[in-house]
Amino acid sequence: TVVTRFAPSPTGFLHIGGGRTALFNWLYARHTGGKFLLRIEDTDRARSTEEAVGAIFEGLKWLGLDWDGEAVMQFARAGRHAEVAHALLAQGKAYRCYATPEELEAMREQAKAEGRPVRYDGRWRDRPESEAPAGVKPVIRLKAPQSGQTVIQDLVQGEVTVANEQLDDFVLLRGDGTPTYMLSVVVDDHDMGITHVIRGDDHLNNAFRQTQLYQAMGWDVPVFAHIPLIHGPDGAKLSKRHGALGVEAYRDMGFLPEAMRNYLLRLGWGHGDEEIIPTEKAIEWFDLDAVGRSPSRFDMAKLENLNAHYLREADDARLVALIQPLLAERLGQPVDDAGKALLTAGMPGLKPRAKTLVDLADSALFYVRPLPLPFTDKAAALLTDEARQVLAKLATALEGQADWSEAALEERVRSFAETETLKLGAVAQPLRAALTGSTMSPGIFDVLAVLGRDAAIARIRAAVG
Ligand code: GLU
Repeated sequence: TVVTRFAPSPTGFLHIGGGRTALFNWLYARHTGGKFLLRIEDTDRARSTEEAVGAIFEGLKWLGLDWDGEAVMQFARAGRHAEVAHALLAQGKAYRCYATPEELEAMREQAKAEGRPVRYDGRWRDRPESEAPAGVKPVIRLKAPQSGQTVIQDLVQGEVTVANEQLDDFVLLRGDGTPTYMLSVVVDDHDMGITHVIRGDDHLNNAFRQTQLYQAMGWDVPVFAHIPLIHGPDGAKLSKRHGALGVEAYRDMGFLPEAMRNYLLRLGWGHGDEEIIPTEKAIEWFDLDAVGRSPSRFDMAKLENLNAHYLREADDARLVALIQPLLAERLGQPVDDAGKALLTAGMPGLKPRAKTLVDLADSALFYVRPLPLPFTDKAAALLTDEARQVLAKLATALEGQADWSEAALEERVRSFAETETLKLGAVAQPLRAALTGSTMSPGIFDVLAVLGRDAAIARIRAAVG
C-alpha cells in the first residue's frame, strides 16, 4: 500500500507551497487508500521553534489534511540516524574523514578559482585512520560511487540522471555526532515505510544523494515525484512579496479551507478543464501523472473566485458561526441570539455577494448593529427632507402590512410608490439607506423580510428622525 508523508521543517509558518505539498501527499494517500504521515524535521535546533510546530499542526488541521498516526519528530530519532551511519562505516560503505576546516576551505577556494562546483575530493576515502591528526573530530562520509550514474525515475520529472563523478562523498554524520539532513530523511523515510516521496522540485538534486544512500543500505528506493515550485504572477519564484504567506494568513483573510484546497490542487494539477473540484472529486481523480512539469503561477483573483463559489455553496449556519468573531470585533461585543437569527435568515442574500468571510462580515454587519445605524456619506445624502417624508409615510403603510414575505413586500412598496407617483428607486434607495446605513446591500425586499416588521419599522423611524 501507498505511504506518503509531509516533512516540513518547523522554521516558520506553513506557507502556501508547503500546504500544496501536503495536499498532494494527502490526496495521493486518500486516492489510493494508503496512509499519509507527518514528520516534523526539527533537526536544525537553532531555527526550529515550538511555535512553528504548532503553526504546522494548526495549518494542516485548518486545511482539513488529517495525518495518520502520531507526527514523527525527527530530532528525537538522531540516535537511530547515527546508528545507520555507523552501520555503513562497519560495512566499509562509509568512512571517517579528518579533513580540517582549513583543508575544506582550501578545497572551496580552489574550486571557486577554477570555476567548478565545490566537491570534497575524497582524500580520506582510502587513507588509514592511523594517520588521523590529533584533535580533529571526524565526520562520517558516504563512500559514494565514483563512476557510472545515478538515475531517478521521477513520476513528474521523468527519468533524471546524474553522472556519479559530479557528486562527492557527502557527510552523513557531523563531527559532533549529529546527523545531516540527507541521512535523517533517508533513514526516516525508510523506517516509516514511505513508498512515495512527493515534494517540491527544489529537492530533486537531493534525491540523487538520497538514492545512493538507499542503495548503500540495500533499501528499496521510494518512488519520487518532484513537483514544480509555485511562482508569482510575474514568473519569479513565489516569495512573500507575491503573497507567499502562511496558510493562517489566508484563513484570516477570510478564505474557506475547501476553497484553499481546490485552489492549491489546481496549482500544478489538472483534470481536463475543471476549475471547481470539490475534495471528494479530487480524491477520486487525483493522480501523480497529471502533475504539470512547468511552474504554476499564484493568482489571487482565481483564489477569490473559487472562494466566492464555495461561500455560495456553504451552509448558512456554518457561515454565521464563521463570521461571528469578525462581527464581535466590529461591534465591540458578541452577537446576541436575535442577531444570530437575523444573520441566518439574511445569509442566502448575503453570501452570493462576498468573496471572503471578511467581505461577508462587513456586508452582514448592518443586521446586528444597534440603532441608530451609522450612515455612509452616500447613504446620508439619500436621506433628504423629501425622502424622510416619503419614508415616514412608508413606515405607516408597512404597519398595516400583514404578509411579510419578500414577494408581498415588493408588491406593497411598488404600489406605495405608484400611489405617491414616485419612481420605485425614489422609495427603494432611501429605504435601503434607512435599513442598512449603506447604498449597497442584498435585495432591499429581502432585507425588509429578514428584519421583520418591528425591526424594519424601527429602523425607518430612526432614519426619519
Ligand atoms: N524538511 C524539508 C523541507 O521542509 C523537506 C524534506 C523532504 O520532503 O524530503 O524542505
